[in-house]
Amino acid sequence: MKDIALLEAKCADCGRLFGHPSLGDFAYGEVVLCTADGKHYATVDAFNEFAVQVRAVVKSGSTSSIWPALAALADPVAGQQFTTSVHCPHCASNNLEYWGGQKVGVTCVPEVSFATVAKLSPSLLAQHMALAISQAHEA
Ligand SMILES: [Zn+2]
Repeated sequence: MKDIALLEAKCADCGRLFGHPSLGDFAYGEVVLCTADGKHYATVDAFNEFAVQVRAVVKSGSTSSIWPALAALADPVAGQQFTTSVHCPHCASNNLEYWGGQKVGVTCVPEVSFATVAKLSPSLLAQHMALAISQAHEA
């Protein structure tokens, strides 16, 4: 868990304002993921043990290309899959008028977990990763 600034965002679909946790532009190797319904957030670190394995499979020099794959492999929260985009907590849209606005508070954000995929055998894990990576490239 870590305290992260909540920045203002405005949904372009329902017009409501909400705060989303943001690490800002200066975070290196770490991002905040958001569930598809916009209700839960978690941080993921490109240097944790599992992310390092994914990076080895992706074989990409850039860390940014692994985020969608890590989001797809992360344990869902309340049945919701993680995504790399901010979703409105009121209508679940990721069509935002703006985000990263003024600071509206601070929130405690847990780290994402990979318990489900970590239990897989190495060959199944490789299949899951390949699938997540190909889906991430299509998205
Ligand atoms: Zn909305």
